Amino acid sequence: MGIVDEDVERVRQATDIVKLISEHTQLKRVGRRQVGLCPFHTEKTPSFSVNAEEGFYHCFGCKESGDAITFVREMEHLDFPGAIEALARRAGIQVRYTDAGEGAARSRKKILVGHVAKAVETYHDWLLSSGDAGEARGYLRTRGFDGELVRTYQVGFAPDSWDALARQLRLSDKDLIDSGLGKINSIGKQMDWQRGRIVFPVFDERGDAVGFGGRILPGGEGAKYINSQECAVYSKSRILYGLNWAKEHVVSSGEAVICEGYTDVIGFARAGVKTAVATCGTALTDDHLKLLNRFTKRLVLAFDADDAGKAAAERVYEWEQKYEMEIAVADLPAGVDPDDLSRTDPQRLVDAVANAKAFLEFRIDREFARHTLDTNEHRARAAEAVIDLVRQHPNELVRDQYVMDIADRCRVPADSLRPMLKGQRRPVARREPVAPPVRMGSDHIEDQALRLVIDGDEWACDLLTASMFSTPKRRAVFGAVRSAANVREAVDMLGADEGSLLMELQADPEDDLDSSAVVTRMLGLTARRLADDLDAQLRAGGDVAELAADIRYLRQWASELREPMSDLNDVVPLADWMAVQFGDEQGDLS
Ligand SMILES: [Zn+2]
Repeated sequence: MGIVDEDVERVRQATDIVKLISEHTQLKRVGRRQVGLCPFHTEKTPSFSVNAEEGFYHCFGCKESGDAITFVREMEHLDFPGAIEALARRAGIQVRYTDAGEGAARSRKKILVGHVAKAVETYHDWLLSSGDAGEARGYLRTRGFDGELVRTYQVGFAPDSWDALARQLRLSDKDLIDSGLGKINSIGKQMDWQRGRIVFPVFDERGDAVGFGGRILPGGEGAKYINSQECAVYSKSRILYGLNWAKEHVVSSGEAVICEGYTDVIGFARAGVKTAVATCGTALTDDHLKLLNRFTKRLVLAFDADDAGKAAAERVYEWEQKYEMEIAVADLPAGVDPDDLSRTDPQRLVDAVANAKAFLEFRIDREFARHTLDTNEHRARAAEAVIDLVRQHPNELVRDQYVMDIADRCRVPADSLRPMLKGQRRPVARREPVAPPVRMGSDHIEDQALRLVIDGDEWACDLLTASMFSTPKRRAVFGAVRSAANVREAVDMLGADEGSLLMELQADPEDDLDSSAVVTRMLGLTARRLADDLDAQLRAGGDVAELAADIRYLRQWASELREPMSDLNDVVPLADWMAVQFGDEQGDLS
């Protein structure tokens, strides 16, 4: 299954991790590492570190870590072979597959994507030069599309014919269906999926064309938009139109604008907002959020005000918590599409995004707009209605801020509103606080010992054993590093949790560790722990003579080892003694 190891290795070797990551965040050399703002979470001070020599990255804030392959997997939502393929493409390497079936499935998808790409080209040519595309061209011009926009977005035209595309591409029935470009009708003939429409090609975030949104021409019959059918290459719940163009702007600006239509995305871009993406005929899904989460932590919903108001508050708050995202609502005038606004008042569109309101604030303002605040009774009623909205917010501090605002607006004391919050608020999972950036370099003695072992320090490697570490995680890391040829191999031997500790340690080397101080301290602590352990055995009725002697021996050492030894040769006897003590009880000390 998968890609042959040798090719994975070639791809790994050929990939410059610093160059790769620099496409998502700016890195600066600091000592042996490259550091920058983490592309996985929002931060103001850099806690993201890349170790170019070892080919690893690690974030001290959100704890994301891995190598070039992990990075591409996380950033581009790819599985392992997919990430290798993406890196192979960059490096110009052709990979081989271990399993003919899997290779076949992947090359099958490549073939289908190739058909869609061919369709994009064909439709685009037809729009530019076909005689029967005159009406489509005229319509696009009235909608503000000039030649440049048409080319940028590869807009096309599907003629009003049953099978113009199928005839042009000469696909097998199976390819026609599997690529989503057409179907077989009841009399067994090939039929195009898009007919008599202006088509907007939909690309995945990597820029591969995967489907189309077809807009009907004025006066035409049928739905205003027809989207590609779900097929091997197109899944509407995962696709966001425009993400291929927007993603770099989303990363650099820190937010993504979400709108409802193809022409809205283009309208935003025309107005200078290059961060817009659209769902393709579906509500926002969890998969969309997962995808966007890789690029940004702030979303601005630029839906029609009514639709945005109706967006399920529960889901929005759930997403905000689950993905640690902030979801705001653009301040758009009611009943006007971003597309329309981009032609009539582009600055208003830019402002709408700049002045986006927090989701709850937006809902509160809308609710207030339904009330008059002219009498005491009206103000009380408004307060009640608005408090209902506040109650749904999961964060107590946020709720309280709004309570104070509402109290002001309704001229009531905040204290009289607070009890109303209690009501029937549903319990919401407690939000884990966002981890503050961790100071680089833990001073934990066992971590320092592991760093020495990772760096191949001779004393540390000779004198320390797994049992000297107090947690199973550190013992596992120690064991893996000692038995593997290099860090890469050690990571492969470990589970995700342990691997991540190892990467964290190696990402943050301490250049001036005093190896003899660290090793001495490790031995001293272990001696004490072992002595305590034997004490307990003694109390439980163990062999008094034997145990008492051992305990004395260990306590003696523990006290001597409070000061760093100047010559580590002196502690070799103790280390050997302990190694024998632990014997087959390795790892049983915690
Ligand atoms: Zn991070």
